[in-house]
Amino acid sequence: MPLVLPPNVNEKTFQKALDAFAGVVGRQWVLATDEDRYTYMDIYAPGDAETHTPSAAVGPASAEEVQAIVRLANEYKIPLWPISRGKNLGYGAAAPEMSGTVVLDLGRMKRIIEVNERYGYCLIEPGVGFFDLFAYLQDNKIPLCMSVPANAWGSVVGNALERGYGYTPYGENTKNICGMEIVLPNGDMVHTGTGAMANTKCWQLFKYGFGPSWDQVFAQSNYGVVTKMGMWLMPEPEATLGLRMQLREPDDVGWAVDALQPLRMNGVLQQNPSIGNSLRVVASQTPRSQWYDGDGALPDDVLRTILDKYNLGWWGLDLRLYGYDEVNEAHAKIIKAAFAKHTKQEFEVVKWHRGEPIQNSGAGVPATNALQIINWRGGRGGHLGFSPVLPANSGDVLRQFHSTKKRYEEIGVDYYGSFTLFERYTTNVNMMVYDRDDKQMTKRVRDLFKVLVADAAKEGYSEYRTHISFMDDVALSFDYNNHALRRLNETVKDALDPNGILAPGKQGIWPKAYRGSRA
Ligand code: ADP
Repeated sequence: MPLVLPPNVNEKTFQKALDAFAGVVGRQWVLATDEDRYTYMDIYAPGDAETHTPSAAVGPASAEEVQAIVRLANEYKIPLWPISRGKNLGYGAAAPEMSGTVVLDLGRMKRIIEVNERYGYCLIEPGVGFFDLFAYLQDNKIPLCMSVPANAWGSVVGNALERGYGYTPYGENTKNICGMEIVLPNGDMVHTGTGAMANTKCWQLFKYGFGPSWDQVFAQSNYGVVTKMGMWLMPEPEATLGLRMQLREPDDVGWAVDALQPLRMNGVLQQNPSIGNSLRVVASQTPRSQWYDGDGALPDDVLRTILDKYNLGWWGLDLRLYGYDEVNEAHAKIIKAAFAKHTKQEFEVVKWHRGEPIQNSGAGVPATNALQIINWRGGRGGHLGFSPVLPANSGDVLRQFHSTKKRYEEIGVDYYGSFTLFERYTTNVNMMVYDRDDKQMTKRVRDLFKVLVADAAKEGYSEYRTHISFMDDVALSFDYNNHALRRLNETVKDALDPNGILAPGKQGIWPKAYRGSRA
């Protein structure tokens, strides 16, 4: 990828900055060839990868090196985009929002500094992947469980910062953050929570500290570089009990949400179940061309034939109870009674006890096979995630489901969605799977995305996370009092980062130096 310089920086200054970075990290960790730049682009880009072209990447090995790079970036006015492992697939991967930004790749910082069994936490660096932490817990026979997202290729830190989630009782990853080390945009370093006390004994135990609580201010933000994160881990349960059901009809998702939400809120169900359409299963195992090669979205009758062949319902529901056998049995009885009001179908029951293979437990075991769906359309595949948050009730869920499905059909893309149920809301992740080599298809997908954001905003739904190409669109939908939240975010941004060097445009927050770049 040819060099795109940061805005207002000439080539001479840029080269001087790279030389200065090399003085900190060593020449081999300043990555600035065409091939390097290509490596850090959005590998799933919906046809517009070049609008997010990095100018280079730099890979520090320690928090002190991060501080030194950040100070130099201020001196040379070079914007930096921090990533942990850069596997934010469907949301931009490793690429920066603004072209010309240098990627600050923290992947070399991968120490697991502490795992505390008694209090159930770890303290880790950004480069620690889900697979790394899982292997550490297993190898050291530590009875603590992680929460992992469906695609676990990325980092524990990056995923928690982006508010990714898994499906155990500790599934809301950002909620498990307890105490962080941050390099601020001016190069200063802070510890949040009680870590602000130099000899604290509670950094990973008590989240709040004294005064304002900062951890969440650094999630989905561009106010600092996270160089260490404390994260709570779930004690391994004695037993788990899984309840699975295939929901035959598209509208069954409505009553299922109504039946589950009160049980999720009152604690009978402690994890966040996902109700996902079964095309996901088929798409990760077979190419679409095996089933259909006509125009437009997969017709409903073709889908029904495929589902019948695999003995699948329109949606698959997977619940899991964690804890002690007797308690799980009692909770299962309550859930079965709630479902019996809506269906004659019985749950398939799966049980696990401590000592049996962990893969069958429902604990977070990292895997990447979910990524295989990108082969569905043929060519070089990609996917984009449209992820609004809705109130957890059948009215909102069905309205959103039908309106999204209709929009997909209008542009000839197959509906692929899931509703993950939390206590009060549901996160509706809709994937658009496309062939990146098909220019028309990717353009239709890009255009559709903006329509979906507008449709959702009209209904009063926001997104929980979005791709770098649409951060301004989503931020714009937060419009109360003439975008008062944006004014607040950007006032803080300018105070912390007067040169605007950290992740300009992330989450639609633009520093004054680049505010003209807002889409
Ligand atoms: P993962 O590899 O875990 O999927 P990424 O490394 O791609 O996640 O991170 C996703 C996004 O989160 C990045 O694009 C960046 O905006 C933000 N981010 C990740 N790690 C950090 C960090 N250590 N400090 C600040 N922001 C970060």
